[in-house]
Amino acid sequence: MAVNESTRVERCPACGSETVRNLVHWERGAPLEVYVACAACDSFIARYTVERYTSSESYEGLLRLLGGHVVTSERELMRELAAIDDEVRRRFERVRELAREHEDPRRIEQILYEEANGERDG
Ligand SMILES: [Zn+2]
Repeated sequence: MAVNESTRVERCPACGSETVRNLVHWERGAPLEVYVACAACDSFIARYTVERYTSSESYEGLLRLLGGHVVTSERELMRELAAIDDEVRRRFERVRELAREHEDPRRIEQILYEEANGERDG
């Protein structure tokens, strides 16, 4: 078990499938939410609130998408929110490798609880 880092593949509690659909929900004044649903049986799996977001879209592509209406002060935020860079790509490769080689058996709730309470099983 990795002491300071681990990865877990999310599965449907109803049917065990690893194939999921992410439903991104926006509501004015509320944090962006992602509802994870099973792609096989449509069961609810989890909900996340988004603090940061990075997509595979390039920064230039996002600027094009928004038709060039992004003011300078928004550009740094845009860059932070969405442009995939080498660091993110490297982390993605690392996380994918962890999931393949040594998946964390703990439930997400357990990981969050143990992290909040400083528990380490080494
Ligand atoms: Zn399912």
